[in-house]
Amino acid sequence: MSNNKYKVLIIEDDATIIRFVETVLSTSNYQVITATNGLSGERMASSHNPDLIVLDLGLPDMDGLELIEHVRENSTVPILVLSARSHESDKVAALDRGANDYVTKPFGIDEFLARVRALLRTSRHCADSCSVPGGRFVLKDLVIDYDKRLVTMAGEDVKLTQTEYNILALLSEYAGKVLTYSAIVRYIWGANDSGNVKKIQVNMANIRRKCGFNPGDDSYIINELGVGYRMKDGKED
Ligand code: CA
Repeated sequence: MSNNKYKVLIIEDDATIIRFVETVLSTSNYQVITATNGLSGERMASSHNPDLIVLDLGLPDMDGLELIEHVRENSTVPILVLSARSHESDKVAALDRGANDYVTKPFGIDEFLARVRALLRTSRHCADSCSVPGGRFVLKDLVIDYDKRLVTMAGEDVKLTQTEYNILALLSEYAGKVLTYSAIVRYIWGANDSGNVKKIQVNMANIRRKCGFNPGDDSYIINELGVGYRMKDGKED
């Protein structure tokens, strides 16, 4: 098992945070390698083939956003952003450049490890089957049958429009990950409509009502305010 550990690359210049993250990950049986600036981070990302990158946005030699773009040119490795920036726009910028999720500093061990597990799970799942979405998605009472394009809640059919179904299916395929508003618009309506957040909100309200999600209930879909939506991973809590 020891040579079968997930390899996590931490790119971060703050020694305190490196120590913290390294300890947390090693204790949970991950192999950890670290880079303290963007350039060596980029080199290690390509030479060490990590399973996950944990990335600080504020690096001494380059902006973390730039690094995301460079890595994405030839890799789909999941990237978890550690952001001290609490502005939504920075999170959106990171996700839109290809980061998969973020945690805002200061963060707790449990939240951090849950995000790491979710990303590794989804990327492994994607490598196997994402090209052909088939089968079913199950989250508590919600079942999505991709082949029949059918949604049920506690066994009852939910009558969704094509657009509502497409949004729900999209969120489920990325369960555990945040999809930004503009990413959702791009997937559902195409690039020309990006910026039309109102459309998503209207459809999402209908989805919630038809599925019987109570107002404020985030046990299925979480609205990351100002950023986008995240469907819960079936294995969370
Ligand atoms: Ca920093």
